[in-house]
Amino acid sequence: METIQNFINGQVTSSNSERFSPVYNPATGEQTRQVVMSSPEDAKHAISAAQNAFRAWAKTPPLRRARVMFKFKSLLEENQDKLAKMISNEHGKVYSDAVGELTRGLEVVEFACGIPHLQKGESSANVGSGVDSHSIMQPLGVCVGITPFNFPAMVPMWMFPIALATGNTFVLKPSEKDPSLALMMAELLKEAGLPDGVFNVVNGDKEAVDVLLTDPRVQAVSFVGSTPIAEYIYTTASAHGKRCQALGGAKNHCILMPDADLDMASDAIVGAGFGAAGERCMALSVVVAVGDEIADKLVASLSKSIHEMRVGPGIVDGKENDMGPVITAAHRDKILGYINAGVEQGAKLAVDGRDYQVAGHENGYFVGPTLFDDVTPDMTIYQEEIFGPVLSVVRVPDYESALTLINDHQYGNGSAIFTRDGETARQFSEDVLAGMVGVNVPIPVPMAFHSFGGWKRSIFGPLNVHGNDGVRFYTRMKTVTSRWPASVRLETHSSHFTMPTMD
Ligand code: NAD
Repeated sequence: METIQNFINGQVTSSNSERFSPVYNPATGEQTRQVVMSSPEDAKHAISAAQNAFRAWAKTPPLRRARVMFKFKSLLEENQDKLAKMISNEHGKVYSDAVGELTRGLEVVEFACGIPHLQKGESSANVGSGVDSHSIMQPLGVCVGITPFNFPAMVPMWMFPIALATGNTFVLKPSEKDPSLALMMAELLKEAGLPDGVFNVVNGDKEAVDVLLTDPRVQAVSFVGSTPIAEYIYTTASAHGKRCQALGGAKNHCILMPDADLDMASDAIVGAGFGAAGERCMALSVVVAVGDEIADKLVASLSKSIHEMRVGPGIVDGKENDMGPVITAAHRDKILGYINAGVEQGAKLAVDGRDYQVAGHENGYFVGPTLFDDVTPDMTIYQEEIFGPVLSVVRVPDYESALTLINDHQYGNGSAIFTRDGETARQFSEDVLAGMVGVNVPIPVPMAFHSFGGWKRSIFGPLNVHGNDGVRFYTRMKTVTSRWPASVRLETHSSHFTMPTMD
């Protein structure tokens, strides 16, 4: 059985830990590997390597750091097939979706290639007579990323390309459920010319994470995962003086207005609800249909589309499936528990995905696409994040009720509206309490040069990931005010005891 170890100081490094976690192929239910659950000493070893590498990397001109990113980008492209197959193998998502994930990660690398421009800082001449001012955006030091299972390549790439390009060193703690991508990316970064120790991977769980959150040498922590863990990470890292951004869970709603293009909306909703088996933080989980007439048509249309969906393994010889398995047997059972709770609490099960069998993959972790109608806000399936292929339809009489419903929910990651009316769409964009908004776009994931992040209990910390916020997160601003020695020639010196102001 292959054991996935750590990557520290430019090489695969065996841990002294005797704890391991199984890694499965979710499409077959077979254990394919095991991953080491690192000891506190392993985490400290990785931090030491990152700390030792920091000074030289921070002093490396941004242009040279960017060239490593350019090379890393081409290596990602050359190795796309191998990487996508590994994502599909360990996560379960279908191959083309794995390629899509890689593309979205690669776009952040492309953004990071522009770091000489992004890290220029600001400059003002003559802030006072003969006085100039400029800011320097300096790297922080050792930065940490702790990432979830659902995007084993993309979410780490929301973080480390910008952290590295701005001159920081990095320790990544990937999900123990699909850890191989982290090591594959570490090897590619080395091949791209990244000096040893600048990027390190520590596999494991809370034991390693707690060291990363508390060690005084760590300057910043980026986390993406579920909300309870995000709260823990944010509280602990902040209490230890670290800069922290912690992105949490979601319950993304869309409003379906009576004037929407129903065919377009229905197709978009099926893809956004069930793509990646609903294991996306931007997956659509609730459709708020305004009026019974469009709700009835939508449920009929969604039911038909769901019955036509192909569910099966992520990699096949012939025509690709639309949706793969969920990540583990435990997660499948949790999702089934939610579906049962929905039925018990009175929601109407329009399409039942329980007892779903995929021929030849009887031991895979499959849940069929599931559709609930007549869901109400008091139900567990409405209140909690399910993170599986379960879509709920809530019926409301008017737009105001739909907006209130969304704004009252604990999560505020993404939100969308389907309408033909520009004024309603504009009003919605302005009033909805969510970080990312789609107008006739069901999964409004911002591009790499914008920033990604939700509102409410979907994020803890003031700065989002990638885009300008990402550059800000990984840099510390220093403002230099300088006066040059004309004063030596021309002025008589005197001390000033009042607050300096410029004239
Ligand atoms: P998770 O919270 O279980 O795990 C995330 C990371 O935290 C993993 O690396 C895990 O090993 C670590 N971890 C777990 N328990 C820990 C503990 N007690 N102490 C320290 N570290 C711990 O999340 P997951 O199941 O891997 O991913 C799914 C969740 O991630 C969903 O809630 C989803 O919405 C969320 N997510 C959010 C975004 C976003 O942008 N907001 C993006 C992707 C995923």
